[in-house]
Formats: sequence, structure tokens, C-alpha cells
Amino acid sequence: MSETYDAIVVGAGIIGACTAYELAKRGWRTLNLDKLPAAGYGSTGASCAIIRTHYSTLDGAALAYESFFAWDDWAGYLAVPDERGLARFVKSGCLVMKTEANDHLRTICRNMAALGIPYEDWTADQIRARLPFYDLGRFGPPKRPDDPAFGEAQGGLAGGVFFPCAGYVSDPQLASHNAQRAAEAKGAAFRFNSEVTAIRRGGGRVQGVTLASGETIAAPVVVNVAGPHSAKINRMAGALQGMRITTRALKQEVAHVPFPPGFDFEREGFVTSDSDVGCYCRPEIGNHILIGSEDPPCDAREWVDPDDYDRNFSEQWQVQVQRVAQRIPSLPVSSPLKGVVDLYDVTDDWIPIYDKSDLPGFYMAVGTSGNQFKNAPVAGAMMAELILACEQGRDHDREPLQFRLEHIGRTIDVGFYSRRREINPESSFSVLG
Ligand SMILES: Cc1cc2nc3c(=O)[nH]c(=O)nc-3n(C[C@H](O)[C@H](O)[C@H](O)COP(=O)(O)OP(=O)(O)OC[C@H]3O[C@@H](n4cnc5c(N)ncnc54)[C@H](O)[C@@H]3O)c2cc1C
Repeated sequence: MSETYDAIVVGAGIIGACTAYELAKRGWRTLNLDKLPAAGYGSTGASCAIIRTHYSTLDGAALAYESFFAWDDWAGYLAVPDERGLARFVKSGCLVMKTEANDHLRTICRNMAALGIPYEDWTADQIRARLPFYDLGRFGPPKRPDDPAFGEAQGGLAGGVFFPCAGYVSDPQLASHNAQRAAEAKGAAFRFNSEVTAIRRGGGRVQGVTLASGETIAAPVVVNVAGPHSAKINRMAGALQGMRITTRALKQEVAHVPFPPGFDFEREGFVTSDSDVGCYCRPEIGNHILIGSEDPPCDAREWVDPDDYDRNFSEQWQVQVQRVAQRIPSLPVSSPLKGVVDLYDVTDDWIPIYDKSDLPGFYMAVGTSGNQFKNAPVAGAMMAELILACEQGRDHDREPLQFRLEHIGRTIDVGFYSRRREINPESSFSVLG
């Protein structure tokens, strides 16, 4: 017998779970379907889960600052315990180096000031006082290690900006499980090992889904939160038509390297973003340092089929570690290859799509471009409000929903995240958003 729900959410990553939680809070009967065995086992589980407020656009920064408050009171946001415990937000802060590439952070600091987000200007000496092992040479623009000029400093960096409302979530998979439990407490249902193979349409709108088993499940609303598989789900729904902004999967490698002896990076370290060497870092369990790429232009971008790509480390792992070794000369560059290989779901301007589609009843929270873990609680609430408004007859394309960010007392135009927008020229066109 076929089951019925008010909404089916395809995907149970952090954004899918938070979307279900927010819909369930508003009285909707939801079902999340995920082809993997548990919540957060997709790209969320591989996430560096860095929480930060600095974004190149004002709306991006506003959303991130609002979300910061949910992470800062994760137990309060969830309102229920989880038998596995709660994910921990380590509020370490984040230091961003001032470089020519980021215009010495002038635009970002203007956004911070406009939104009342705290930040501190740090001189090179202040950075050395906190990170005494740091070489503050100016090595940029980032190069491949086989470039003869690699590692040659041209003068020194002027300093950086420290953002105290930042840090990272220790276990992003657990955070997704926490959100699942919170949604279930409000009546939501989750099914795992359940692959959606078709989006059913009829009578001019979405009707539900078909699973790989052949089972059909009916619902008047289906939400695509399938991460790097988002384009495949949109194609199943025939929703690519009418989208000016599209999504595709980009391979990413993150290195985990033991921190050199003599400094407790896990306790004393913090998140860093360094466009001079093209990498971001954060402390990782076991006094390791986690190293991700800021995708400098000298590195080829590897767009892949999310169901068919090489999940092994490539030479990129070494490249990233060697880049950070310019800053931390004692870093063991030949340590065993540890870390993750996974995918970003990237849009043309690296800003997500939180929107309806041309198919009535079919919605999408996609194209999270390597930087939306942090926004999941607010993205979930924004999606819930968008779905409610559209199902009550609002034409969001003509009259975009205005969404209230309660903590920071600001309203944002959800049309900013439209699938029909022009490419946003203010974006960093990178994982930095
Ligand atoms: C290496 C890496 C580092 C990152 N670092 C950060 C960071 O530091 N800070 C930050 O804010 N963001 C970061 N991100 C981005 C962030 O992790 C993502 O934006 C976020 O996790 C996306 O969550 P999601 O729920 O949309 O997608 P996902 O977690 O990918 O979930 C999608 C789910 O859909 C399921 N699915 C797909 N197709 C189907 C189907 N046909 N049927 C059923 N289920 C299906 C998948 O199994 C998956 O579980 C990073 C991402 C990566 C890959």
C-alpha cells in the first residue's frame, strides 16, 4: 500500500535533515529518503564543517551570522537530546590573512561592520604571538610545487583579520543525526538505503517519487536536497528547464596531517584562511591539522559524475600540504595520506540555490558550493517558509519571499538565491562564497 506525506525530502545530509525539522516544526508530515545507510553519510560527513561569518556578499554574511547563533546554542536549537550525544561547536575563531587577492579584506570588513559582526585587525606581530611557528612571508599568488618560484617569499604579509564568531563542528555526521532526531521528535520520518530513481509528475505538478525497489511514495511536495547529486534529481523532475544557474559536482581532497611536536594545535589553534598559499586549515582531533584547498587558479578543477569518480587521493593531497608547509616549515609533508576525498555541489557563481522550480510542488536546496554546512539551520527554516508561502499561492519568482533573520534582526530577500538569477559578480567564485 502506498504511504502519503505532505512533503518528501530527497537527501538526509545536514541541510535535508534541518529542512525536515523546520517543516515538521510547522506541522508538516515529512519523509526524508536517502540512499545511504544513515543521516550525514554523504558530502556532509566529509565536510570540514567550518562555521564562519565572513562572506563576500552582504546577504551571504547575514545568513552565516544568523546560523552562528544556532550552532552556538545547538542543544537549544534542537530542543531534544540524542542518544549518541550532541555534536560540539568548537568556537576557536578564524584568522583570514590580508592579501591582494582579497583586497586586504576591505569589502568583507565593510559587510561585517554593516551587520555588527565582531572582528579584530591583527598585525603580523600579533599573529606571531599566537602562532609562533608561522612564517609570514608573502608567497602568493599560489603556485604548484613544481613551479621554480614555489616557496620563494617576496616580502611579508601585513597581517590578518580575526573573526571570533567562528570555529568548526567536531562531527558533521553526528550533527546530521542530531537534526534527524529533532525532526523525528516533531513527527518527521526518515528512510535510509532508499534510492529515488524517478520524480513522479501528473496534473501539472509533482506527485511523489519512485524508489529503486519500484515502490512509489506519494506527496504533493518534493524537495531536492541531494547534495552533489542535485543535478541528477533536477533532471529526473524535468526541473533543469527554467534554471539560469545550474549545479555540478567538483572533486575535493582534504589532508589530515599530524601537527609538529611542541604546540597543542588542537587546543591553541584556530581556523585559518590564507589566499596567499591557497589553503584553509583547522585543528583536527588527535592534534592534527586539517588542510583544504581554496582552489587557486593554478589548480585544474575536476568536475565529475558523482556516481563515477576516483575516490583515492591524488598528487593534490601533497600539493596542499606543501603549500601550508610554506607557513609552517616544520609540517611533516611526507606523513601517511589521511583525510577525505569527496564532492562539492557547485553553482556557476558559487552561491547556493534555495528556490522553487518551474514544476509546481518541486523545490530545491542545492549548489551549496562547499560552504553551506554552517547555514543548514537557517537554510532549513528559509526553505520551510518558502515552501509554505508557495503552496499557499505566492508567486515567489515575481514577488520573492522576504525572510526574517530573528537573531540579527534583519530581513533578506530570498530571491538572492534564485535559480533564475544572473550570475552574482560580487561572489568570490570560490569555496569562500
Ligand atoms: C570536503 C568538503 C569540505 C567542506 N567544508 C565545509 C566547511 O568547512 N564549512 C561549510 O559550511 N561547508 C563545507 N562544505 C560544504 C557542506 O558540507 C555542504 O554544503 C553540506 O554538507 C551539504 O549538505 P546537504 O544536506 O545539502 O548534502 P549532502 O550531505 O551531500 O546530502 C545529500 C544526500 O542526498 C542523498 N542522495 C543523493 N541522491 C539520492 C537519491 N537518488 N536517492 C536518495 N538519496 C539521494 C545522498 O546519499 C546524501 O546523503 C564542505 C564540503 C566538502 C565536500
